[in-house]
Amino acid sequence: MAQNAPRKAGRHFLQIPGPSPVPERVLTAIARQTIDHRGPDFGKLGLSVLDGMRSIFKTKGAVVIYPASGTGAWEAALANTLSPGDKVLMVETGHFATLWKTMAGKLGIETTFIGSDWRTGADAGQIEQALRADSGHTFKAVCVVHNETSTGCTSRIDEVRKAIDAAKHPALLMVDTISSLASIDYRHDEWGVDVTVAGSQKGLMLPPGLSFNAISEKALAAAKAAKLPRSFWVWDEMIAAGKSGYFPYTPATNLLYGLDEAIKMLHEEGLDNVFARHDRLAEATRRAVTAWGLDILCKDPKYYSSVLTGVVMPDGVDADAVRATILDAFDMSLGTGLSKVSKKIFRIGHLGDINDLTLVGALAGVEMGLGLANVPHSKGGVQAAMDYLAASAKKAA
Ligand SMILES: *Cc1c(COP(=O)(O)O)cnc(C)c1O
Repeated sequence: MAQNAPRKAGRHFLQIPGPSPVPERVLTAIARQTIDHRGPDFGKLGLSVLDGMRSIFKTKGAVVIYPASGTGAWEAALANTLSPGDKVLMVETGHFATLWKTMAGKLGIETTFIGSDWRTGADAGQIEQALRADSGHTFKAVCVVHNETSTGCTSRIDEVRKAIDAAKHPALLMVDTISSLASIDYRHDEWGVDVTVAGSQKGLMLPPGLSFNAISEKALAAAKAAKLPRSFWVWDEMIAAGKSGYFPYTPATNLLYGLDEAIKMLHEEGLDNVFARHDRLAEATRRAVTAWGLDILCKDPKYYSSVLTGVVMPDGVDADAVRATILDAFDMSLGTGLSKVSKKIFRIGHLGDINDLTLVGALAGVEMGLGLANVPHSKGGVQAAMDYLAASAKKAA
């Protein structure tokens, strides 16, 4: 930090689509003393968080927790189930889908990438077509990003499942829920997902540093035959140790304290209420963007994301300059445009531990920032959001 940086009063507005603001209760839980990870108390914590994560994934199957960012859990999903030269079908929803594809290539997997313009979710029809054309069943897996954090488009995993079934294709279904889990409805078992990948720092309201796989019986069977080299990520040792709540190596004990608390908080609010809160805040955000006369990057309402909204800047406006103006003037961080949409969009995160007034404050910062940065727009976005929030607010009985 610059030596003479003046103190900024109030709290920083962290409105990027992850990491999301960490609630006080989670921070306090993390601040407890680290315990012996081989001792009797640790097993109880381990069982509690593993069981809790099953309730969040909506699975009765195996869950593993890595002391790693989400990228690690991506690698774990691929390395545990596939062999060198295997083919997988992936969908280019945006930057994160592209990174996952690049990783698969580095691991020696052959990828077929269904292209897109980064303004929509995965098209189940195209997936079905590609699988029907693969009569020899050479695709070993279909990999889809549930919520594409770089664009603000959410894919319909139930439809992807139906497409795989309609094509009568045996490929595994692997889904990245790093930015959607605990923000948007997700059902690992019901949707027949084989490997779900998740991370701690978005909907789960934790700091970065934990990631997860939820694993089906079919994926466990595939792991027995899979030949990609793997050691740190190997599932069977983690699942064996996890049966009594322990890890094969030193776990991120303090983050697990936080995870236990975050899961408790999600259930206190009720998962359905958590999802409805995200839907409502996202709708308010879209009304603001529309009133400003700006484009939402996601062009099809079917795929609108309840986690974040990508806002397209008019031609000739540098979205990063607008973000810099807003950070300087109002101490708020917005998400940058990634790779293909760099400088063309900024992203408003509306996920995790936020409420109506957090959002109204954030939108006010954006509207004032658009003015300061001379972005052509109409006023009234914040008003449109407030009108919607007030009309749909809980009223005292
Ligand atoms: C954040 C994110 C990632 C990357 O996770 P890291 O924790 O940064 O490794 C991958 N996929 C999606 C959809 C994400 O939102």
